[in-house]
Amino acid sequence: EHLAPTDLDAAQAKAELTRLSDLIGRYNTAYYTHDAPEVSDADYDALRKRYDAILALHPEAEPAESTANSVGATPDSAFGKHRHLVPMLSLDNVFDQDEFEAFINRATRFLGLSEADAQKLAFVAEPKIDGLSISLTYQNGKFIRGTTRGDGTEGEDVTANLLTLKDLPKELNGPAPELIEIRGEVFLSKEHFLALNAAQEAIGRKPFANPRNAAAGSLRQLDSRVTARRPLSLFAYAMGFSSERQSRSHWAYLEQLKAWGFPVNPLSRKLEAASGAETFFDDVSRERAGLSYDIDGVVYKIDDLILQERLGFAGRAPRWAVAWKFPAEQAVTTLKAIEIQV
Ligand code: NAD
Repeated sequence: EHLAPTDLDAAQAKAELTRLSDLIGRYNTAYYTHDAPEVSDADYDALRKRYDAILALHPEAEPAESTANSVGATPDSAFGKHRHLVPMLSLDNVFDQDEFEAFINRATRFLGLSEADAQKLAFVAEPKIDGLSISLTYQNGKFIRGTTRGDGTEGEDVTANLLTLKDLPKELNGPAPELIEIRGEVFLSKEHFLALNAAQEAIGRKPFANPRNAAAGSLRQLDSRVTARRPLSLFAYAMGFSSERQSRSHWAYLEQLKAWGFPVNPLSRKLEAASGAETFFDDVSRERAGLSYDIDGVVYKIDDLILQERLGFAGRAPRWAVAWKFPAEQAVTTLKAIEIQV
């Protein structure tokens, strides 16, 4: 049994932060590098929460190699490394309406908005796809490189593997900036996830823990012929870098992504005010089981890109977006049997 954060003295806090940091680092490697988690997400989240709680009480006890603000894990040396032009970070989570409102209040206070303007703040709401994020680089409209998030600063070059995705535009339709990084999620449908696990087990391999690990394990292959046999899908959802100023709103940018030829999640909606967030969350919760792919919540993003820029980032996540997560539970689905070759 471990002592409550408030019961630790300075020396105990230091020892406990070091222990937790080592453990989190080890679990990050298993999850992000080997696509094979050693513990459940709930257990992992509890460790991180305890780490943050102790750190808040004893900031001086922070280990040199702290995991507090870390994103993902160091890129695997088996792949070429590439530095993102704009970092790829994580998202803060909320689990209910009160926490969501606290997020809105933090953002509007940071922007110094009046109560009336805060009520009019528009959002884009998008399903949070349970896959892995990727960055796609286009030069003069041609796909030149694709990378995983890695540690947020540097990712793994998985260009050859991404070229096997039928959803990925190799060339953009219409005019495009000279250099652009596009962000999206690569994922496996529920039926392909189950089929892949069945095939893994049939040849005595460990099944993947969830569709996200399965998608990551399938994209992060050294032989792109293996990736080609895994029917991975793609949704584009954000701008990373652009050599030219883009639209003024995230919603307009999603329209641009569609025009360029990217699949954009059709359930995404523009909300004229934060007050529409809960209804949208309930609607998506109801649709969840019937979707062909897994989602683990809804992402809310402030629509105005100028405001996004002003809000910027805090630690490992943007101040202008939040993930409202579903409570942890097993999704109920009806699946038809299909076969897949590992
Ligand atoms: P996250 O997955 O909670 O949120 C950030 C990610 O959401 C982005 O990187 C992006 O890939 C994804 N996303 C999906 N749809 C999106 C959209 N429409 N717009 C923007 N982003 C979208 O954060 P994370 O930092 O990648 O991972 C944390 C999660 O991983 C936690 O749930 C944690 O439990 C789990 N984890 C588990 C273990 C373990 O050992 N079990 C280890 C590490 C992490």
